[in-house]
Amino acid sequence: MRTGAGGPDPCKGTLWPDRRPKGILSTMRPTYQVTELLGDGIGEELSRAVHALADALPVRLEFLPVDLTLENRRARKDAVYDEAVEAITATTVALKYPTVTAEESPNQVLRRRLDLSVIHRPVYTIPGVPTNFRRELDIDIVRIATGGTYDDPGRLIGDGGAVSLRIVERKPVLEAARYAFGLARKTGKRVTSASKYTIQKATDGLFEGVAKEVAAAFPEVPHNVELFDALLGKVIMSPEKFQIILVLNEYGDFLSDMACGLAGSLGVGASANLAFDAAAVVRVALFDAAHGTAPDIAGKNLANPTAIFLALSMLLYQVGEIAVASAVKSSTLDLLRQGVRTRDLGGSESTDTFTAAVAAEVSRRLTPAAPAA
Ligand code: ATP
Repeated sequence: MRTGAGGPDPCKGTLWPDRRPKGILSTMRPTYQVTELLGDGIGEELSRAVHALADALPVRLEFLPVDLTLENRRARKDAVYDEAVEAITATTVALKYPTVTAEESPNQVLRRRLDLSVIHRPVYTIPGVPTNFRRELDIDIVRIATGGTYDDPGRLIGDGGAVSLRIVERKPVLEAARYAFGLARKTGKRVTSASKYTIQKATDGLFEGVAKEVAAAFPEVPHNVELFDALLGKVIMSPEKFQIILVLNEYGDFLSDMACGLAGSLGVGASANLAFDAAAVVRVALFDAAHGTAPDIAGKNLANPTAIFLALSMLLYQVGEIAVASAVKSSTLDLLRQGVRTRDLGGSESTDTFTAAVAAEVSRRLTPAAPAA
């Protein structure tokens, strides 16, 4: 449910529904409901930081909290997940803080219950994050998050060997491909699909066939196909040639870790977990930070909120607030570039002071300049 301002439609012609309000209410401050999945460790500080930043935005984010702390999960069991699923389905977008994996992994439960079939993981060089790789990296990995060999129980054949069944389904491939090409259309980027289609002819052949079909519906988006092993080398040799990379489950897993290793940003990135409707349009999107709960620094005002700010930026992008999303991302990264950093990145800022700096910068960038006298 949303109310508020419209403006030119930056999503026009994409596969994303434009969630921004229209009509008579369009002069009000736009409001978006966001499910906030509260977590463990530094989750509480990160939530405070997100709220402080949200207060500085020209849109109103109405947070619907769901308590996913370990304590509450243990006390309420499935009821917590029922509540989370209901809230996320209603708001369509959610921000999740890190959670401890104990009896179950909340990420896995939510992925299964919400049918989150695609992961979008942007990986880019983050100022201040030490890395051995000297080149600039800026790629969006769009990964089919189901099937492949990961849903395969495998089977021993006597003592002599084992078999495994690799499953590729048309539906999630179509969803991921339409998302990747929609993202490319929205951002003016190119799509590379990568697989081992010359060897895995049935599975990867199906994947590339679907990618080609979808590419035909986006004639303005450049598309090329790479063999996955060659792609890994090429990303290292010429990272600037790659923008959006569309891959099957296990390839996406390998590529994400390699790219994060290159960018040095294993913990500073964010990702989107996506579920789709029957027309392959995003139905719900759950955004989270890549790092864990960092119990060693919890409650000390030391947590670096960069990753959760980048997740918030992706969420704003998803609801169609492109300028606000971009201001959140660029303000955060530019401040890091200028040396305004928390202790984990060699700086001296606390969670609160870093957050205040980002909020002030976002506000400055989004406030229209006063007309000259
Ligand atoms: P979990 O079990 O939830 O994965 P963990 O501590 O094993 O937690 P991370 O949370 O990823 O794994 O933390 C690894 C290291 O990085 C820890 O020393 C932690 O303090 C630090 N760290 C992780 N996230 C942040 C953050 N947002 N800000 C500052 N330091 C962080």
